Amino acid sequence: MPTTGAPTNWAGNITFTAARLHRPETLAELRRIVASADRVRALGTGHSFNRIADTDGDLVSLDRLPHRIEIAPDGSTVTIAAGMRYAHVAAPLHAKGYALANLASLPHITVAGACATATHGSGNTQRCLAAAVAGLEIVGPGGEITELRRDTAADRLNGAVVGLGGLGVVTGMTLDIEPAYEVAQWVWTGLPLDRLDDSFEEIFGAAYSVSVFTDWQAGDGVVWLKCRTDRPGPPEPGQPWLGARPADRHHHPVPAMPPLHCTEQLGAPGPWHERLPHFRPDFTPSNGDELQSELLLPREAARDAFAALRGLGDRIAPVVQVSEVRTVAADELWLSPAYGRDSVAFHFTWVPDHEAVIGVVAAMEELLLPLGARPHWGKLTAAAPERITASYERAADFGRLLAEHDPKGTFRNRYLERHFPAG
Ligand SMILES: Cc1cc2nc3c(=O)[nH]c(=O)nc-3n(C[C@H](O)[C@H](O)[C@H](O)COP(=O)(O)OP(=O)(O)OC[C@H]3O[C@@H](n4cnc5c(N)ncnc54)[C@H](O)[C@@H]3O)c2cc1C
Repeated sequence: MPTTGAPTNWAGNITFTAARLHRPETLAELRRIVASADRVRALGTGHSFNRIADTDGDLVSLDRLPHRIEIAPDGSTVTIAAGMRYAHVAAPLHAKGYALANLASLPHITVAGACATATHGSGNTQRCLAAAVAGLEIVGPGGEITELRRDTAADRLNGAVVGLGGLGVVTGMTLDIEPAYEVAQWVWTGLPLDRLDDSFEEIFGAAYSVSVFTDWQAGDGVVWLKCRTDRPGPPEPGQPWLGARPADRHHHPVPAMPPLHCTEQLGAPGPWHERLPHFRPDFTPSNGDELQSELLLPREAARDAFAALRGLGDRIAPVVQVSEVRTVAADELWLSPAYGRDSVAFHFTWVPDHEAVIGVVAAMEELLLPLGARPHWGKLTAAAPERITASYERAADFGRLLAEHDPKGTFRNRYLERHFPAG
């Protein structure tokens, strides 16, 4: 978020209406700010594309709080300061011989902000990033600290992790970790979309993490395979595969963009955190000329969704920079779009023209919501809030959880009010 002028999100499409932005340097200072505020919201790095982080009261960023990385003696979890970016967690974790199971396309986002919106990477066996959360420390409306742990309050934690910022300011998070591993990234170009349709299982089963990029009009796509070196390998490197050609140079997800800021490809093995994201941690994007939307559907709906999107290709292509297909494993987090179902995710990076884009998003949602699509909480949608929450079995439970943690609505904002009206 810029430090001068009216604060905006990363994309610049949202100007926050907050009266004040606080950047406390200690936990005690943060607790005082929260306890004295009528309305307050935590802000991560502002990478969401809607008003989820906004408030007309006080915004509080945790970016000046001390970093914290405490690995449990048995090596199964790490406890971190929740306002840290994934990049600031991943490198030190790797240096100590540990890893997270997955990462999103960029490591610049905060762990708290990413988990609050159910941010995900890709992989048939990979759940959204919030599924790694084994514990939360939350500053509540009176400045008090509440702890939720998987081993003592599993169901409540499942409700709180994808919390949309509504339960309080998350200051500490305990995450599952595993021994460090290496990943090699390979790209194949010119995959016929017909093959995406009829070889979906083979393509998304070909590596630990798989993304297919397309514009839904040209008739082909680009496949990125992120292969763990300790698991069965990719298709024969350097050979044609399913009608696609092995890339002989680095690629950017957006065809017109130079690959300078992308993670290493061409099969060079490297640490997990330098391959799982598409973008390098040492590239710091200050703002982005783009909008994003994303829908997650049950995997069984993939073929119908492909047909719908190819049918809309002529409307999508003029306003899309690139679309990405990923898979996400089912989880038990009440507000995760992958709750209870293995999912296929359709992401869209659009041109920064809201008026032109939102009509196409609406047309797409009219076709995909009946197939069970749930929009990403941090991106654009044209769907009515009640239609979105109706697709979540535990939505009413989440409304009750909000009321229990925040009876006076200190952490409520218009976004939450529209989706989970009080009372
Ligand atoms: C270039 C780009 C790439 C992206 N790639 C992916 C991707 O690969 N996969 C994917 O799923 N999404 C992706 N996203 C979306 C992004 O991951 C989400 O919008 C995420 O929420 C951003 O994290 P943030 O730190 O910027 O949070 P913000 O946008 O600042 O906040 C999001 C929400 O989290 C809450 N929050 C933040 N910090 C706290 C806290 N400490 N305590 C309580 N609540 C808090 C806020 O109140 C708000 O409700 C991408 C976005 C961009 C711009």
